[in-house]
Amino acid sequence: MPKVKVTVDRSKCVSCGAAPSICPEVYVLGDDNGKNRVVDKYSVQLTDEVSVGIIPEELAECAINGADACPVEAIKVETIE
Ligand code: SF4
Repeated sequence: MPKVKVTVDRSKCVSCGAAPSICPEVYVLGDDNGKNRVVDKYSVQLTDEVSVGIIPEELAECAINGADACPVEAIKVETIE
């Protein structure tokens, strides 16, 4: 079953809260620096600069809606094997 990779460029994020508000199943503003990140459940990498997560396919639409709402285009959603 394909999975979906979500990459948040936290260095670009302006903490507007749009993505976490639209798709809280995938995104949350981090306790560390207030910038968007993939929630713990799906997180595979987290630094000040970047957050990467692998999410189930059924959350892809939610993740994409959040990405589309980002004013600085900081979120990339892609299908992986
Ligand atoms: S929508 Fe973009 S700028 Fe706003 S919190 Fe999410 S990643 Fe950051």
